[in-house]
Amino acid sequence: MNNKSIMKEGSERASGKNAQKMNIIAAQQVAEAVRSTLGPKGMDKMLVDSYGEIIVTNDGVTILREMAIEHPSAKMIVEVAKTQETEVGDGTTTAVILAGELLKNAGELLDKKIHPTTIIKGYRLSVKKSDIILKNIAEKIKDNDNKILEEIAITAMTGKGAELAKEKLAKMAVHAVRKIKEENIVDTENIKIEKIAGEKVENSELIKGIVIDKERVNVSMPKIVKNAKIALINSSIEVKTTEIEAKIQITNPKQMQAFIDQEEGMLLDIISKIKKSGANVVFCQKGIDDIAHHFLAKEKIYGCRRVKQSDMRKLAKATNAKIINNINDLKKKDLGNAGIVEEKKIGGEYMTFVNKCENPKAVTLLIRGGTEHIADEVKRAVEDAIGDIGAALQNHLVVGGAGASEIEISRNLKHFALSLSGGERGVVMAFANAMEIIPQTLAENAGLDYIKTLSKLRKKHNQGEKWAGIDVFTGQIVDSWEKGVIEPLKIKTQAINSATEVANMILRIDDILLSGPNKKPQNMNIM
Ligand code: ADP
Ligand code: MG
Repeated sequence: MNNKSIMKEGSERASGKNAQKMNIIAAQQVAEAVRSTLGPKGMDKMLVDSYGEIIVTNDGVTILREMAIEHPSAKMIVEVAKTQETEVGDGTTTAVILAGELLKNAGELLDKKIHPTTIIKGYRLSVKKSDIILKNIAEKIKDNDNKILEEIAITAMTGKGAELAKEKLAKMAVHAVRKIKEENIVDTENIKIEKIAGEKVENSELIKGIVIDKERVNVSMPKIVKNAKIALINSSIEVKTTEIEAKIQITNPKQMQAFIDQEEGMLLDIISKIKKSGANVVFCQKGIDDIAHHFLAKEKIYGCRRVKQSDMRKLAKATNAKIINNINDLKKKDLGNAGIVEEKKIGGEYMTFVNKCENPKAVTLLIRGGTEHIADEVKRAVEDAIGDIGAALQNHLVVGGAGASEIEISRNLKHFALSLSGGERGVVMAFANAMEIIPQTLAENAGLDYIKTLSKLRKKHNQGEKWAGIDVFTGQIVDSWEKGVIEPLKIKTQAINSATEVANMILRIDDILLSGPNKKPQNMNIM
């Protein structure tokens, strides 16, 4: 079918089998791009952006975000990683690899003339069944199962630059998540993670309170404020410049002085309003100009400028302050409370510590690392750990890692497939086989013979050892639960569900129309 003539010149069209093949190949290329990073033995990637900034990482979603992927269906796969990141915070590589494998196996079914709708239906059935299988094998944990929670954190961080201090970081992460947990809600947004280059990872610490990477704007301001009354202001504290550029003709020094006096008068008015509210600390999201901070210092008010919006939100929550748009509206009741606000020098940088906050749930993890790159990667690892601990504490169900869960799903699904007939059986089988890509990749990345490893694994599972997994360091088959390789159930169900969803979405496409003259999916280039 060629009716390009009805489309704009330079447009591209691919239909039917061509479109499907093209999309499947693009998805596989995305999976291929992150495959080698999976697991503790996964390799890192060095990414250099258009500004020459270097990122060394092992984190699936970070890699894909930086890769500037162009191909439309490849982009859909990248979305899977992003969803996984926001929903759980970990398991992004797993989700992408699964999506790639599901599509690869679907391609083989298409070659056998199985209709896409049959595949989609079969995949849906399989994902439902997988959820049930996983729930059946999952172990229940309690809020205070610290040892298991720490093992979950260590599993998330193994092989990610946090290696040297993973026990300490795991304890800190568990402590932080338990501190911010309210009833059954874990909003990990409430944990602030601040990284500072220049010291060993071991020296990372958990701070009860909020740490802002800003110094006080003026050295004459008090360095420490006890019994802090905190104003959060998101407009600038400066003389307003007019929208229209105005020229002022000044003919003698007196006029000059009068002009300055008037400007100062306006600022003094603003400062006196702050003072009158009772505030002794000001966090401003915008600028505080030279004259303004001079006056603030005179009033012994501690001030920080250009505080990030996300930090303003955290400060509001921690100190029970209200963020004010217009200083004229600032009232005593809008102020937040903290026992101490203090400037401290850490790793050559000045930071502001807001401690003994009114809301005791506020915590900050100060992540240290020898260099900027190390600190960044440790921060990403700790974020993964926090996401996993949070997920584990929300539904209290966890599973064994190291490939154990995936093999168990695969085994049970194959069994289930035997009860089906015709095309459906083949599709469920294809789904079951796709699950094995996770242990297979873990084995490959560890330099093991994956065929042998998988067959040993299957054998153990058939003998009833549901947590049999791969010890990627020795190549042996071990009990992942005993080894402490544990993950929240949610990481698995989310990865499988969103991978299947995107695979199905891509399978439903049988026509690609590209109107841009430069976009040629025929090249199969994903970047
Ligand atoms: P993702 O982005 O999917 O989280 P990771 O690189 O973090 O990718 O790898 C996660 C996989 O590594 C999971 O399948 C997990 O079970 C496995 N894994 C983590 N720690 C170990 C370990 N100590 N031994 C074997 N497998 C492990
Ligand atoms: Mg991970």
